[in-house]
Amino acid sequence: MNPGWVVLKFGGTSVASPRALRRAAVVVARAQRDARVAVVVSALAGATSALDVAASLAARGEHVAAAVVGRLRRRHRRLLHQVAPNEAQAASRALEPVLTSVREHLEHAALTRSLTPARRAQVLAAGERLSVQVFAALLRARGLAAAASDGTAWLVAHGEPLEAEPDTAATRERTARALLDAPVLPVITGFLAADATGATVLLGRGGSDLSATLLAAALDARRVEIFTDTSGVLTADPRLEPLARVHRTLTPAQASRLARLGARVLHPRTFEPLRSRGAQRPGSRAQTLTGAATSAAPKPREIPVWVRDTFHPERPGTRISSHASLHTGAPGEAAGREVLATVVSGPALVRVAAGSGLAARRLAALLCAHDVPAVLSRLDDSLMIPVSAVACARAAGIAELRFTPGPLGARLVAVSAPRHAPSPDTVGRALANAGVFPLAPPASALPGVTAAVVAEADVPAATRALHALVVGGAESRVDVVLAGARGRVGRALLARLSRDTRAREPRLRLVAAFDTRGHVTDSRGLEPAQVARLLEAASPRPLAVVLGELRADGAPLLFIDCTASEAVAARHASLLTRGIAVVTANKHGLAAPGARWRALQQAARYAPLRASTTVGAGMPVLSTVRALRRRGDALVSVRASLSGTLAWVLASAHAGVPLSRAVEQAHALGFTEPNPAADLSGADVARKLVIVLRAAGIAIEPGEIHVEPLVGPAVLRATDVATLVAQLVPGDEAFAQRIESACAAGKRWVYTASYDGTHARVGLTQVDEHDALALARPGENVVRLRTALHDRVPLVISGPGAGVAVTAAGVHGDVLSAARALIARSRRGPVSGPALAGGAWAGGARHHPAWA
Ligand code: ADP
Ligand code: ASP
Ligand code: MG
Repeated sequence: MNPGWVVLKFGGTSVASPRALRRAAVVVARAQRDARVAVVVSALAGATSALDVAASLAARGEHVAAAVVGRLRRRHRRLLHQVAPNEAQAASRALEPVLTSVREHLEHAALTRSLTPARRAQVLAAGERLSVQVFAALLRARGLAAAASDGTAWLVAHGEPLEAEPDTAATRERTARALLDAPVLPVITGFLAADATGATVLLGRGGSDLSATLLAAALDARRVEIFTDTSGVLTADPRLEPLARVHRTLTPAQASRLARLGARVLHPRTFEPLRSRGAQRPGSRAQTLTGAATSAAPKPREIPVWVRDTFHPERPGTRISSHASLHTGAPGEAAGREVLATVVSGPALVRVAAGSGLAARRLAALLCAHDVPAVLSRLDDSLMIPVSAVACARAAGIAELRFTPGPLGARLVAVSAPRHAPSPDTVGRALANAGVFPLAPPASALPGVTAAVVAEADVPAATRALHALVVGGAESRVDVVLAGARGRVGRALLARLSRDTRAREPRLRLVAAFDTRGHVTDSRGLEPAQVARLLEAASPRPLAVVLGELRADGAPLLFIDCTASEAVAARHASLLTRGIAVVTANKHGLAAPGARWRALQQAARYAPLRASTTVGAGMPVLSTVRALRRRGDALVSVRASLSGTLAWVLASAHAGVPLSRAVEQAHALGFTEPNPAADLSGADVARKLVIVLRAAGIAIEPGEIHVEPLVGPAVLRATDVATLVAQLVPGDEAFAQRIESACAAGKRWVYTASYDGTHARVGLTQVDEHDALALARPGENVVRLRTALHDRVPLVISGPGAGVAVTAAGVHGDVLSAARALIARSRRGPVSGPALAGGAWAGGARHHPAWA
């Protein structure tokens, strides 16, 4: 029994690399098991365009033939050697007549300074004539009985040689003849056909899709599978909107419309050969390929078209058929019923000459009746259509259409939403919110299609804004900006982000990273692992400019501060007021004096603020304090060892290591602030105490903390580590003696932070050797809290309180939590209430007035 034909078409990127070719070969071999397969291939990606440029140069008298032919020869031969070494020699020989013909045409053009469309068609057709040799050799090398075959032997089209009109009836006849001596597995050039005289004509750029459906119609194929570099027809061009989703099913009408609007994934006329067969509707009168309607002839089956991913052949792709929700046992999963909206972006525009405004409106209506999108520019009454729809407008046979180039640099962005297209006003608002101001106001281009004309540079932002509007998905993405990207915590965070491939909502997209020495940005997303390398080549930009330019681009923004910079912290409040979430490991903001801190608290009403790592690195100190406060508990006293650094240094010193060495080692291990003086001065601990007390609702000012530095002022003046260590050496002996005498008395020195309900102090304290603070291991933090409820037995939190890894993990956790809050907020609208609030402590002498 004849198993029936399946036509597999492979696009330019699907044949351009060994990786793609190997996958393609597997696809063909599998399909061959239960069907007769005809393969249609495009030219290698870029080959047709290179030939096109060469043709234009040659027609201007430039001698480019040798160079172009040489490049094509090398490219195809290299691929042959990579994917089919045993076939390479014979196949390379088969490339030569094609290359010779290209060279001759181009040389002739250069000499005569002209190139007729018919000759240009011959030149452009070479791309496919070369690629079929590679593809056929690839299949033969895998034991399949494949042979290259020229499209002119199968397909017929007439008229304009570069954009010929397909002839389905003549194609059916020619295909029937071609089959008489066709190889078992024909590998046929896409894009080209023969005219009535047998001369080569082309089906227009991107025309291989049309070749595939023309052939499928002539073969009465079971299905057509168009293999490309995306996982189907998506809700937007994935190069512009990575959040685009795959359409599981579309009708041919919907898919055609998207292609006409400019979705490059399919040629705008792909479905015409299949449409002329008639959809398989009950009671519908079938049409023969000669066009005569007859009810006697058997109804032709509908031929479904699949768009699938060469690089992920296991994915189902998009099924296009008039039974958009029927599962036919063809590849992939069952089709869904959901019809998603689609954003189509980027085609250039052409003006259609119409004369008066009235004539333009009439013409628009006529084009609309043929499903050709047109935007009537209210500015000058001109009518513009996307260049992708020109061939369809011509094929519709509307008399006397004259096209002139549209405005330079103007591009169409359109939303196609079969059920509920957004109004032009809604589109305008979404664009304006994204900072895009259309060149021509949004308007209806077809029923269910709203389109706007925007500047080329605005196409990506417009695409994302409209995709967020009609498909959603942006609400499940948060764009992230990282300050301090090359600091220790910044680097560790980037490493975590690049390792963390778990699918989560919301998705994070790193859009910018910077430090004082460099700045990189990419609105499509930076690969975290590449950031350090990219920064090497980048130059710095002023902080005010970097932060001033931050704009939400279809998704909410989150700013991560991994610096120790006061200047960066000073900007937290203004970022929050702009709706940008802030995650900070930098203590300067939350420990800032009065007015600045209050401004930060006010600003935290507008966007999430997370700072869990500012106290206790990765430990849940602040969250615990806030949780107690939320319950209505009141803080009575705090006694804590809050500096992992000083705990580590002191543990070493108690073990007999000179203080200077201990500090040097702590720095080398990444346990200190960038300048260890910030630790030794007690300033860092003081900031932490301020942050803890403020989180507890206690209005404390940094100046109210009594700070006793661990070391003398001369040491603290040092601006670099080497000097600081050298300054410590003379005091090593005296410090060692203090430790010795304390130990002799059963005591230990601990650098403590304390609060007794009235006074707050940080400094070196002698504690009993059995005290929790004395028993802490090097690098550990201990926080003892007494509250109204935990009065007799204190609440103790202890654990690793320093180190890059735990801090980065804490920042990462804060990022995820802030991102979720940001999304929730964008769904609900802004909420009131500061991020650090959540109810008030009941009582407390110094109760924070703002939350009382
Ligand atoms: P091929 O050479 O396989 O025919 P094309 O480059 O012609 O491939 O078309 C595939 C490209 O179309 C994709 O890489 C993508 O950038 C673009 N594209 C534009 N709109 C869409 C869409 N809605 N869905 C999928 N791809 C799209
Ligand atoms: N190679 C042709 C082009 O680049 C046809 C195709 O790829 O579909 O336009
Ligand atoms: Mg294509």
